[in-house]
Amino acid sequence: MNCLFCEIIKGNIPSSKVYEDEYVYAFRDINPQAPVHILLVPKVHISSVDEINAENSVYVAKIFEKIPEIAKSENLGGGYRVITNCGADACQSVKHLHFHILGGTQLIEKMG
Ligand code: AMP
Ligand code: ZN
Repeated sequence: MNCLFCEIIKGNIPSSKVYEDEYVYAFRDINPQAPVHILLVPKVHISSVDEINAENSVYVAKIFEKIPEIAKSENLGGGYRVITNCGADACQSVKHLHFHILGGTQLIEKMG
């Protein structure tokens, strides 16, 4: 399997790491769409939200436990947005589940 984010997790492709533990890898988006734009990915390959199930949902829970901590350390007290794109209609470009944290500015209201 040729997966960009699996290669980033393994360290075979460089990234700007923000946080890492047994379950979660977080790094800065290469093409930031806000002053703070961080991606959180599970350290196992899950293709998208469509593939979350009872066996792997602990990775999703661990990601969401980390989000408020990362938001705090990135000074996002004013608020932030958490987004995941799933499938073609949502323009998911990397087929490894990831959650975007966007913040550091007033975000536009429109989401779709
Ligand atoms: P999505 O469009 O939701 O699948 O998001 C994929 C995100 O991955 C985009 O925001 C890209 O800018 C980001 N991205 C692609 N390649 C890299 C990379 N090598 N390092 C960091 N972020 C990346
Ligand atoms: Zn992967």
